[in-house]
Amino acid sequence: MKWSIYNYKYNSRKHGILLFNMLSGAFIEIGDEDTEIEFEKIRNNPDNYDFSRKEKLLDFLISNGILCENDEENKNITEFYSLYARFDSKQRSVTILPTLNCNLACTYCYEASNLKNEKMSPIVVEGLKKYMKKEYSSLENGLKVHWYGGEPLLAHDVMISISNFLDENNICFDASIVTNGLLLNKSKISSFSSLKINEIQITLDGLKNTHDKRRMFKNGSATFDAIMENMKLLHGFVNVNRDIHVDIRINIDRENEDEYHIIYEYLKNEFPLFHPYAGILRQYTSCGSSIPCFVDQTEVADFHIRQYEKYGLIEPVFYPYLKGMSYCMAESPYSDMIGPKGEMYLCLKDTGDKNETIGDIFNGKTNVRLMASYCTGKLTFNSDRCRECKVVSLCGGGCANIKYRNSKYGEKNDPCVPFKENVYLEKYLDLHYEIKKKNAKD
Ligand code: SF4
Ligand code: SF4
Repeated sequence: MKWSIYNYKYNSRKHGILLFNMLSGAFIEIGDEDTEIEFEKIRNNPDNYDFSRKEKLLDFLISNGILCENDEENKNITEFYSLYARFDSKQRSVTILPTLNCNLACTYCYEASNLKNEKMSPIVVEGLKKYMKKEYSSLENGLKVHWYGGEPLLAHDVMISISNFLDENNICFDASIVTNGLLLNKSKISSFSSLKINEIQITLDGLKNTHDKRRMFKNGSATFDAIMENMKLLHGFVNVNRDIHVDIRINIDRENEDEYHIIYEYLKNEFPLFHPYAGILRQYTSCGSSIPCFVDQTEVADFHIRQYEKYGLIEPVFYPYLKGMSYCMAESPYSDMIGPKGEMYLCLKDTGDKNETIGDIFNGKTNVRLMASYCTGKLTFNSDRCRECKVVSLCGGGCANIKYRNSKYGEKNDPCVPFKENVYLEKYLDLHYEIKKKNAKD
């Protein structure tokens, strides 16, 4: 029996001695000095520790992964489950970009330009329906459809046509949409029921002044007030359709970070059923040169910590535990992303860039090289750095797109999570502990 290498024990200035296991997620308050001495004895030599009258403690330590036989084996099991999930053909999702056209001209828009005005033609829509019938007809767990763009509501007719087709062919599905909110009138909103949309994301760029400087119509005119009006309509709809979840993504960077808490409070008051959150703009492909994006993850962590400490805003990021190493749609062959010409991608960051397509709906996924790069590029056993990293089970190896771009284009984007540094791991755990205690009291 040994003390797991994934244990992290530290002396929190606010909460005393705490112990966290990065593989199981167990988080334990050690408490008084005597208990600490006993834990040190266990840590130094678990096999010699006398558990004869502390069998419950022994069971507890083993079941929470604090003591284990073989750390490497446990890590492999976690990684195995992650691989297993990403190759699970029962979990199918499709992200559809019915158009890359947009009614806005945001100053920082990152979507590559060679397909920018493209909308799905009737031939592509027919091809997509055939593809869907072949791929999704016998799904046990249904299909998740994500509508994305451009502005997907500019191709509302395509959304209706595809959704009707799925219904007519008994393909069980539900859907989400990412929209800039400007086309949300009464009739589009009420169509969400037949489109089976139960998750909606609307994006803002901060308070009115900031937003209107960055997220404007193509003729330069302001959009904030119009979006607010449309959000009122949507809020009324959600009030009678409570199973619909609406996120308001507020794009945040170094320039507008100080107004985040103000717009957050404003939105919470105006639209209590919606969920505003900070969408951090990081300085790699998602950020045009006109925006002072956050450069590294520690800046992002500092932002979240400040928001909590100064304004009590809790982002769901303080518990650095992943319940098994995560993966994203770019790494799963069972997640499809389909552009307006029927071309297929792996990652949203690649949309519109024909060099990064993996095939199309007519001929299938043929670019095995690219799929392999995304799917294996971040596997921890493919990277010395990740293999040796103590927080590997919390991070899962980072974003596949960052790793792909670093390796293919020689970019130098940092894939690491902030809590790779002990100082951030402790800050996050402290905050998680504090919030949990507070919630238990309330
Ligand atoms: S590869 Fe990275 S950016 Fe692309 S979908 Fe996955 S997590 Fe997101
Ligand atoms: S923190 Fe960095 S080194 Fe560690 S697993 Fe994540 S990407 Fe790999």
